[in-house]
Amino acid sequence: MKSNISFADTSIAFSYKSDKELKKSYFLFSSINNPILSKLGANIVKFALKVKIPIKGIIRNTVFQQFCGGESINQCDATIKKLANYNIKTILDYAAEGDQGESNYNIATGEILKIIEKAASNLNIPFCVFKPTGIGSKDLLEKIQLEKELNNHEKEEFEAVRHRYDAIAKACFEKGIQLYVDSEDSFYQDPIDDLVYELMEKYNRVHAVVFNTYQMYRKGMLENLKVASEMGRKRGYYVGAKLVRGAYMEKERERAEEKGYQDPIMPDKESTDRQYDDALRYCVENIDNIELCSGSHNENSNYLLTELILKHNLAKDDKRIYFAQLFGMSDHISFNLANAGYNVVKYVPYGPIETVMPYLLRRAEENTSIAGQSSRELELITKELKRRKAR
Ligand SMILES: Cc1cc2nc3c(=O)[nH]c(=O)nc-3n(C[C@H](O)[C@H](O)[C@H](O)COP(=O)(O)OP(=O)(O)OC[C@H]3O[C@@H](n4cnc5c(N)ncnc54)[C@H](O)[C@@H]3O)c2cc1C
Repeated sequence: MKSNISFADTSIAFSYKSDKELKKSYFLFSSINNPILSKLGANIVKFALKVKIPIKGIIRNTVFQQFCGGESINQCDATIKKLANYNIKTILDYAAEGDQGESNYNIATGEILKIIEKAASNLNIPFCVFKPTGIGSKDLLEKIQLEKELNNHEKEEFEAVRHRYDAIAKACFEKGIQLYVDSEDSFYQDPIDDLVYELMEKYNRVHAVVFNTYQMYRKGMLENLKVASEMGRKRGYYVGAKLVRGAYMEKERERAEEKGYQDPIMPDKESTDRQYDDALRYCVENIDNIELCSGSHNENSNYLLTELILKHNLAKDDKRIYFAQLFGMSDHISFNLANAGYNVVKYVPYGPIETVMPYLLRRAEENTSIAGQSSRELELITKELKRRKAR
């Protein structure tokens, strides 16, 4: 069944960008698209920040502007408003990565609670999100996954993690916000799953407040999703499912090889794609019990979800189904979907420039021509620039 959505309309895709802004994006993606330039740029930036060469201004006006909303929650207001003008919602994503240690976990938790406060008074921010390693030690989680005995100090540490998860979920529940828990590496995901299911059981009785993330590049993930859904039905709660393909493939494979265990990743891109699309089908078929967020820049999967909505006679803006993309990427998907009346949300990362650098470097990495994304972005921007010139 074909829905009549098209992602080809670049006038809709880039309607929120002025000519000047679009040219800036063109320049940025051309640079990132060149693997040598991109790698060189990344190394220069890392070095300059380390020895305190003042390059923040350049970063702020280029890559930061493309992929981030601001340096603080309130600095994101203009972006939130701009997206809202085009019927796109925002998820504020505090993009501090890799800062381990109890005090950093408490700072990050405090920041997420501030986002929830902000979201409570702004209908354009219906969700909030956190990264598990932002609020708990991955070493501790790994130890739990390996079923190693915890000492008393570690037991206390884990109780603190559980307490942070609950404080965030409780605040979301009370303020009417939905919560996405991101997923990272497979080798400490099991205890995170357990914590998230505890929260679902507690807060998802009337609808899905808490969402787990299912990385469809992992073997057996569709099965995990089915087990979660059956468990939800049995115990009387709704399952929140954020589907993604997964962002840490190389690391997962290298680690499996190095440590001599079976590669947890699907054998190839096609099987990941198949599992992702089957998971979409499963979620829509079970929409009476699952709320779905499809976090993807893949055109086929986004088309498929529109077709499934049509096939199952659901409204385009059924509040149980959201399409999600990252700010600064795949605007042709987000803006065309939103224009056609689907629910769309963008992850809008924010934070001080030094803190969001790992996030920005990952965006630059996955946008090099080897990984593919930026050539598509460039093609679309070029098409739109030509269209505007011909007017
Ligand atoms: C809103 C949003 C939220 C996200 N949240 C998370 C999160 O919580 N956790 C997380 O890990 N990622 C997250 N991501 C990133 C996501 O997992 C993907 O890395 C990214 O979106 C690219 O996948 P895609 O579906 O957009 O499209 P595509 O470009 O079609 O797919 C690329 C992906 O396919 C998979 N793949 C590529 N080659 C192979 C291969 N040879 N074998 C097997 N699989 C392969 C990899 O997962 C790769 O990232 C999120 C993305 C979005 C848009």
